[in-house]
Amino acid sequence: MAGGILNLACIALRDAIARREVTSTSATEAVFAAIDKLNPTIGAYLTLCKDAALSRAAEIDKDIAAGKARGALAGVPMAIKDNICTDFGVTSCGSKILENFHAPYNATVVEKLLAAGAVVVGKTNMDEFAMGSSTENSGLGRTVNPWDTQRVPGGSSGGSAAAVAARMAFVALGSDTGGSIRQPASFCGVVGMKPTYGRVSRYGLVAYGSSLDQIGPLARNVADAALLLGVVAGHDPKDSTSVDGELAPVADYLAEIEKPMEGLTIAIVPEFNEGASEDVRRAIAEVIEVYRKAGAKVVEITMPHFEYAIATYYVIATAEASSNLARYDGVHYGYRSKDAGDYIEVYAKSRAEGFGAEVKRRIMLGTYALSSGYYDAYYLKALRVRNLIRQDFTGAFAKADCLMMPVAPTTAFKIGEKTADPLQMYLSDIYTIAANLAGVPGISIPCGLDSGGLPIGLQILGPAFSEAKMLRIARMFESKTDYHTKAPALEGIQ
Ligand code: GLN
Repeated sequence: MAGGILNLACIALRDAIARREVTSTSATEAVFAAIDKLNPTIGAYLTLCKDAALSRAAEIDKDIAAGKARGALAGVPMAIKDNICTDFGVTSCGSKILENFHAPYNATVVEKLLAAGAVVVGKTNMDEFAMGSSTENSGLGRTVNPWDTQRVPGGSSGGSAAAVAARMAFVALGSDTGGSIRQPASFCGVVGMKPTYGRVSRYGLVAYGSSLDQIGPLARNVADAALLLGVVAGHDPKDSTSVDGELAPVADYLAEIEKPMEGLTIAIVPEFNEGASEDVRRAIAEVIEVYRKAGAKVVEITMPHFEYAIATYYVIATAEASSNLARYDGVHYGYRSKDAGDYIEVYAKSRAEGFGAEVKRRIMLGTYALSSGYYDAYYLKALRVRNLIRQDFTGAFAKADCLMMPVAPTTAFKIGEKTADPLQMYLSDIYTIAANLAGVPGISIPCGLDSGGLPIGLQILGPAFSEAKMLRIARMFESKTDYHTKAPALEGIQ
């Protein structure tokens, strides 16, 4: 029976709870039973909030029994990436420097989830400060891919993607600075969406690259992603980069997704797809055929500045990170070195001992790019190229409704395969990073399996604030195929 509940999608579970066919308590207990069995191997969660989750589920069950409405996620057990502040549990960002950090407040998205009746199961593992593509940079634990435990779940929201894929949560929140929702979603065979920059409040999201970061949903299907996006989206007076609701109103994403798409034009970038593995290229070609058969027009375009996206990102993101991470000094937040003398030593030793290698590498890169003498040559130049990349998107969206391409060049790679060579790791973000530089939305949906049975992801990118349309386009594929129903075989995982 527990397996039965866990296989329900989020909306189906919520509706069953509302109809009192199942209780939130039984769903939450089933999730914790799955966590007890699977999390020791998969390592999706860093913190679990079992007692709080069960008492909240009981409270929601009581309200529902009393006929009180409880919101769009009433009773649904879900997971939150550990760089999103919660006033319960720990918010560690996967870093030793914040290993015991208790945030004094909830992020706006968390307040919205709680108001919608969600039950928070726990906080999920991630690359330290969201820097990475495999979750191997976590300073606090290892997460493996539920489809193949020898492989990475992707990153940096690897814990959230693995939790949803392995039925240890019905939905989850992640964050995406250069692909960190879409790529793990693709590696774990779930749906993941990075909204337009400014669509979702960043208040309470621990900053990595502030001009790139966005929070977004991970879910088992497009409808669940649409529901979760609708709950967390919207203007927030506490985040000055969140967009005014009058300028860009939040649509009823869920109500939109089944609307038929007439006259859809899809842009593809043929030379761009060539870098992908054969299995990935074949899957994307098949996707395009599905859309063509459904009446879509397909146009070929070029994105001349895309090839500079990775270099541009690693200047801008590291520059912003070097500034954002200056606050971890052993005084304001988190870990303080035990054997430091004066305050300079407190600062230096706390950071040296608290941060992992990748975080230090990026702080050094960013500090260098921002230093006087190099600022113009690196940082300013990167800002200019960022603008050219943005213009490439504007040009593309003048010709088509959306762009389609792979999420990543390969399916989930082996644990340890890329850790020795950071540049190889950086290259795995080649398809996702440009959307963050341009601020446009992107969604990753399961679209096939490779010859080894691992999930492949399709990426759909659209103009700013076109989330409703992107979700509709994604749903169009989903409604004609069954890849979203495929799940990893979890029986063998102990
Ligand atoms: N993999 C990219 C990086 O390492 C993107 C990470 C992210 O989106 N947070 O920075």
